Order: sequence, then C-alpha cells, then structure tokens
Amino acid sequence: MRALEEKIQQEGKVLSDSVLKVDAFLNHQIDPQLMKEIGEEFAESFQGQKITKILSIESSGIAPAVMTGLVMNVPVIFARKRKSLTLSDNLYVSNVYSYTKNESNDISVSREFINHNDTVLIIDDFLANGQAAMGLIDIAKQSGAAIAGIGIVIEKGFQPGRKLIKEHGIRVESLANIASLQNGKVTFVEEVASK
Ligand code: 5GP
Repeated sequence: MRALEEKIQQEGKVLSDSVLKVDAFLNHQIDPQLMKEIGEEFAESFQGQKITKILSIESSGIAPAVMTGLVMNVPVIFARKRKSLTLSDNLYVSNVYSYTKNESNDISVSREFINHNDTVLIIDDFLANGQAAMGLIDIAKQSGAAIAGIGIVIEKGFQPGRKLIKEHGIRVESLANIASLQNGKVTFVEEVASK
C-alpha cells in the first residue's frame, strides 16, 4: 500500500536491525485518514468472506481493526492483555510469548462476543515472530469460529511470523512488507524483488 510505505519512510524510525518505531502514526499518535485507507484496503482484500467479527489485540491493533470493522460494518473485539475487573470469568484465554520483552502473558476475550457461528478476520499492527497472531488464532479456534485470515499493517518479512501462520493453513495479507531494516534504512519486499 503506497501511502503506508511512504508514511513509514517519512515518519518511521529504525531503532535497530529488527525494530521499527511508528509512534508518529500508528502506535502512539494515530493518523485517522491513513487508518481509514487501511480499513478500506483490508475490507477489499477480504470481501466476500462472510466475515461477522474483527478480532484484534490491545492496544495498537485497535485503530486499524476499528476502521476495518467500520468499512465492513461488523463489530470489533480486542483481546485484553491484563485481566479487567469488569471482565467475567467466562473467557477464552491464550498464552502469548513476547520475544521483545522475553516474557509470556495471558490474553483474553469474553466468550460473550465470539462463537461457532462467527467468521473472524484477525487484524494486528505488526507481524514479527507471529506469537500475538497465534494467540488470536488460538482464541478464535477455542470459540469454534471460522478464521477468514489475518490482516497485518506492517509485516517484517525477515522474521518468521508468516511461515508459522501459513503452516496452520491461514491466509495472511500485509499492507507493507519490510525486507530489511539494516543500516538504519527501511527496504520493502517489492524493492528487493525488483532489483
Ligand atoms: P510477534 O513477534 O508476536 O509477531 O509481534 C508481537 C507484537 O510485537 C506486535 O503486535 C507488535 O505490537 C510488536 N512488535 C513486533 N515487532 C515490532 C516492531 O518492529 N515495532 C513495533 N512498534 N512493534 C513491534
């Protein structure tokens, strides 16, 4: 997605060979116009799949997920990373390991909001090692819902997330796919392919 790639080049900050900071438009300050275009792009990619719910994870998945839900006209659920006082015990829970933080955390979704009649589209901000996505897949599977696929805003194609998800037979669509963050520079997968 051209507008997203331009935004990443203009406002993204390469923190290391493996971490990209996008606080200027996605992870802290949010660009609503760009989020709207992202929602339209995901809705077009997954049209005709009879999606009934969008499933995401707090906090950075929520903005692109809500915009996708708006365009598709379906509700949006986000998995919680901390136990909420108002969330009942009636939960789907999955354990997610974070390589960046070197810790495991439970994520949860109320059983009230997803069931076997649903077809869910999973949306998240980044795909790196695929652990967050696998946690959301696990929750969808516990609910008995069908999974239409996963929509990722920024994929780091040099990390193994896509391979892991594809091994589970699930479709992955990313709007920007980064081939490398080496030497402080963002290189997208198409740029590598066209060289
Ligand atoms: P995973 O390794 O499970 O695919 O990535 C999990 C989460 O880590 C993503 O949802 C995202 O929030 C965060 N993450 C992974 N890599 C990056 C990165 O390069 N930049 C930012 N800002 N977040 C990342």
